[in-house]
Amino acid sequence: MQKINAIRGMNDLLPKDAAAWSYLERTLADLTRAYGYEQIRTPIVEATALFQRGIGEVTDIVEKEMYSFEDRLNGEQLTLRPEGTAAVVRASIEHNLIYDGPKRLWYTGPMFRHERPQRGRYRQFHQFGIEALGFAGPDIDAEIILMGQRLWDELGLQGVRLELNSLGEAAERTAHRQALVEYFTQHHVQLDEDSQRRLQTNPLRILDSKNPSMQTLIEGAPKLLEFLGSESLAHFEAVQTLLKANNIPFKINPRLVRGLDYYNLTVFEWTTEALGAQGTIAGGGRYDPLMERMGGKSAPACGWAMGMERVLDLMAISKSVPESDPVCDVYVLHQGGDTLVQAMIAAEALRSAGIDVILHCPPDGQSASFKSQMKKADASGAQLALIIGPDELASDEAQLKDLRGTGEQHAVPLSGLLAAVVDALVDS
Ligand code: ATP
Ligand code: MG
Repeated sequence: MQKINAIRGMNDLLPKDAAAWSYLERTLADLTRAYGYEQIRTPIVEATALFQRGIGEVTDIVEKEMYSFEDRLNGEQLTLRPEGTAAVVRASIEHNLIYDGPKRLWYTGPMFRHERPQRGRYRQFHQFGIEALGFAGPDIDAEIILMGQRLWDELGLQGVRLELNSLGEAAERTAHRQALVEYFTQHHVQLDEDSQRRLQTNPLRILDSKNPSMQTLIEGAPKLLEFLGSESLAHFEAVQTLLKANNIPFKINPRLVRGLDYYNLTVFEWTTEALGAQGTIAGGGRYDPLMERMGGKSAPACGWAMGMERVLDLMAISKSVPESDPVCDVYVLHQGGDTLVQAMIAAEALRSAGIDVILHCPPDGQSASFKSQMKKADASGAQLALIIGPDELASDEAQLKDLRGTGEQHAVPLSGLLAAVVDALVDS
């Protein structure tokens, strides 16, 4: 029969990689606790309109990356979530989460974007993100950036650089936009096809172009920072002061605009050269207009999102994934029949005491020689082998063998098995 494979760009998480994922997830859970962030989980499927409004119609995601479909039963337009912020904002409005003050939230889970699969770019990928809802000051911008830096430090990642910019407020961007349109109109012949279209729809996004032949033109374009008023500048400077006071290195990148439409004031990205073309491991910023745009009461907010696959790739390069724990403490060997019955009872008793046990189950359902079982026990990483053969059963005993240290083996009474195993595990 022909086999069915996974969908292109959507990956299995195999056992050999599971330890690194768990380690990252534990580190993230500790990080969020250290800063008082609470977890939120939203559905993977949302109304398409949520992303059209929440991300912006003229963005790569909404224009060409969304997995959208019609609900066959009622015709609703639905989309597999391509990012987390729109849904977190929707949920916070729907459940009135910030009625009694601001909230610090975090989420994690799979996201879906129809992109060309390559290293660091997948169609199902995973994000971790934080959203600080209801905070207006530069203190929270700095705090979420400190969180990111702490995470890279905890994970032992090297060469992660922070780029920072301010997008100002709407009126400032309008003035800048006019200057941009003038500039790009003057240089119309040098624009690629995408950018010519964007000149009509969203000229700011031309600055986001990755087309190498556009870079010199973009370099010379009017910079938004030159159009910021005093309040926006003060916010931006306060963020920088707090970062400097906490010894966070950063570089101001006046061209940083981010892919999503809803940002204002502070925007930032963490990048690395170690991952090739997909070098942005996380990015975010302030999105004060979004709450109101999603139908809620106006409230300031900011956050960032990180690509888990890219961070794990960087962890592997930095060799910062700790050795994984062995899969079990004790591997139980037997010869089938009554010895299997006793072995299974013994394994259950040990598990009830919190000991991790693998019971030998022969692949062919027949009993195997102790020699071949012992090879499996060794390969399992277990500290101890517990052997119950017919002779042991006849004398109400089991053999306990130290697999890692001395290799010593001795008989223990079945009645005192738990104590003997605990002793041996402490010794080893
Ligand atoms: P890029 O410019 O690489 O397409 P983006 O601006 O679209 O990134 P965001 O929407 O800001 O990315 O998502 C936050 C993070 O999620 C990115 O910095 C990246 O680490 C990760 N990410 C985004 N798209 C993908 C993808 N298709 N596969 C794997 N990770 C991704
Ligand atoms: Mg993208």
